[in-house]
Amino acid sequence: MAKGRIVILGGGESGVGSAVLAKLKGFDVFLSDSGTIKPQFKETLAKFDIPYEEGHHTMPDILNATEVIKSPGIPEDNPIVLAVKENRIPVISEIEFAGRYDKAKKICITGSNGKTTTTSLIYYMLKNAGLNVGLAGNIGKSYAYQVATENFDYYVIELSSFQLDGMYDFRADIAILMNITPDHLDRYEFKMQNYINAKFRITQNLTENECFVFCADDPITAAELDKIVVTAKKLPFTQKKEVEQGAFTDENKLYVRYEDDEYSMYINELALQGKHNIYNSMAAAIAAKAVNIDKKVIRESLCNFQGVEHRLEKVLTVKGVQYINDSKATNVDSAWYALESMTTPVVWIAGGKDKGNDYSPLYDFVKDKVKVLICMGLHNEKLHECFADKVEKIIDVTSAKDAVAEAYKYAEPGDTVLLSPCCASFDLFKSYEDRGRQFKEAVRAL
Ligand code: ADP
Repeated sequence: MAKGRIVILGGGESGVGSAVLAKLKGFDVFLSDSGTIKPQFKETLAKFDIPYEEGHHTMPDILNATEVIKSPGIPEDNPIVLAVKENRIPVISEIEFAGRYDKAKKICITGSNGKTTTTSLIYYMLKNAGLNVGLAGNIGKSYAYQVATENFDYYVIELSSFQLDGMYDFRADIAILMNITPDHLDRYEFKMQNYINAKFRITQNLTENECFVFCADDPITAAELDKIVVTAKKLPFTQKKEVEQGAFTDENKLYVRYEDDEYSMYINELALQGKHNIYNSMAAAIAAKAVNIDKKVIRESLCNFQGVEHRLEKVLTVKGVQYINDSKATNVDSAWYALESMTTPVVWIAGGKDKGNDYSPLYDFVKDKVKVLICMGLHNEKLHECFADKVEKIIDVTSAKDAVAEAYKYAEPGDTVLLSPCCASFDLFKSYEDRGRQFKEAVRAL
């Protein structure tokens, strides 16, 4: 006898992982995707003997579910999701479902920017410490698939706000909120508070035994914490003041205080440079202290971490010009940090699909540091309007190859060519990864 019927909406990484876990746990499982399912996922579904459909949704096969697991890419107001809710069938996320079957210690990371970097850094530290640890969430294999097929003692999990939306009873052992800046508002009725609430779900169910790690310098996080009660060990990180517990900096050093212990190291030793990466390193170091990792391992990890592809990734130096791929900078805030960390004149490649950006926070950096702006997008009018009086030269291109060719013309030895687009990639590229790779290929071909 099956335990109940789990229907999964969406046949991507998280949906197929959920289907496998549900199947192994003895549920009657059905997966439905309105688009096409990739061949590798179909293979997995076949291997585990899981029925599915693609290209349409058959309502009777969905509305007889006891619970529905929705992929994070499907909006809450999707008609199928609304029909499921009208029938009072609970809708949850993959992480909520898999969390029920996982006894590992869970370090969960959310925020508008810095999630992947911080998640990868923490995973790297735990691995270096010799722990039996899995990496999940938006990165690599889904959490559910790993819960189904592995047996880790720790998980480091990157959580988007869309995954958090479907989480109710899930509890992190260490919850990390990097920052909150406007993003994805189209999915939150254009109400900032809805997006803030989604991010703060990472704190739900925390007790005084768990840790909440957050950026005390982030005004939106700080304002929200004034309004709500979070029952957890609070461990702020900040570059503005000393704190009793958590992490902070002075001129030269970074300090971590956890319980009775203090750890410190020089900021210039950090592998990841730039103000934003100091935040990421601090958050990771707090998490590492909280799981009792040796100071030596923390230091070595923070000094040696290689970074993540497409995040301020140094590609090559050609004729004295450094080329940097920051294709993952899909919003203004992340491009702000990229420009902030530049110490040379910059040829800046920006543009793409604008998500209603306000570019004004970048004006001063652009005036001070950018000598040429290369607009890589189908609609560059807004960039021209905003930056015409702030840089000497603005050039339009419609491919990564042309962008690099133009940058090569104008950059002089000692300059940096920075791809940090501020925008989504979908007008010219398949994804930000595709954009970053095309950029790197063009640089390597110089
Ligand atoms: P996410 O997974 O949240 O999108 P990433 O680590 O992939 O974050 O970084 C995305 C972009 O944001 C990169 O361009 C990076 O330079 C920038 N960034 C990284 N960490 C931070 C931070 N703490 N605050 C602001 N921007 C950041």
